[in-house]
Order: sequence, then C-alpha cells, then structure tokens
Amino acid sequence: MAVRKILRMGHPTLRQKARALTRQELASPDIKRLLLDMIDTLKDSGGIGLAAPQVDESIRLAIIDVPAGPSRYGDIPSLPLTIFANPTIEVVDATTAGYWEGCLSVPGLRGFVERPQHVRVTYQDLKGKTHTLELKGFLATVIQHEFDHLDGVLYVDRMSDIRKLVFEDEYLKHLTTQEAARDDMLV
Ligand code: ZN
Repeated sequence: MAVRKILRMGHPTLRQKARALTRQELASPDIKRLLLDMIDTLKDSGGIGLAAPQVDESIRLAIIDVPAGPSRYGDIPSLPLTIFANPTIEVVDATTAGYWEGCLSVPGLRGFVERPQHVRVTYQDLKGKTHTLELKGFLATVIQHEFDHLDGVLYVDRMSDIRKLVFEDEYLKHLTTQEAARDDMLV
C-alpha cells in the first residue's frame, strides 16, 4: 500500500476518457493493489472521493468515502467507503443546485457548479456484480464530479460563471454561513 501522487490539471491523463474494466481485471490482484493505494491516497489527501485517472490510471474506477457524524457537512448524509467500477449515471430529476466544489487535481481553488440533485448510479463491484444507488443533494453532486473524471471532465468545465472560480483561502475567509454548511467538498 502506498500514497500515490495525485495528478494536477494540465496532465493529459486527466483529459482522457478512461476505459472500462473487464470482469477478470476487476478480480485481479493488480486492481486490489491499486484500490488499496487509492484508499491510502484519499485518506492522506483529506478528500472524500478519488477517481483512478487522478492517480494516472485511465480506467473506470472510483472510490467515495463521505464520513458520518456531525461535521461541516451539516445534515448531509454520509456514504461509507464505496468502490465504483464501470459506473453509469442517470438523471432522475434535472432540478439543479450549486455547490462550491474543490478538486484534489485542482489544488487551492474552489468553483461554484450547478448540477442535477437526484441521480441514479449503476456500477459493478470487484466481483462484477451490478448495483444501483439513488443519490440526492450533496452526494449527487459528489458522484457526478467523481464520475466526470472518468470522462476527462473537470469541474471547471461545468462552471457557468467563471467569476465564481476563487482561491480556497479567500473562499474560506469570505464564505457565508450557508456556504460554510456545505464546505469541505474535495473530490
Ligand atoms: Zn476532482
């Protein structure tokens, strides 16, 4: 197990469409090793999500771990550490809401992004078994941000107002109470 280097915006791997994993690959020791590294890397980074392309593996694999308990997430529901292989996403309700997103691959910055707030996710586990998950609100945003990485998309591409791209320390200094409740989204 090891903490891997997280690629930053500008690295070409972050702009590639990642390839799907076969059932054999999902069950392989290589993928298990990579996942253990990704979990270490995520913990080390203090983030809540990490996609394989962020550690220079252009494959459709991501992890999300939104901790439980009272936190800066306010009343936002937690999501225990989950591995998503070959995920697809479907919008259930296109009504959008905005969050100040951060990205481990775009360090030091935050940007305001509006996304649909009710999605259905279909993905495989390491045994190749298919699962479905419906997510709303903050978690719907987190998962869309994360899966965008598998298509070479970064949150800055989704911004409709580039004036809402700010330095993180300035954002933390000037954010409102409402924004503070939604702070700490780093994926
Ligand atoms: Zn990201």
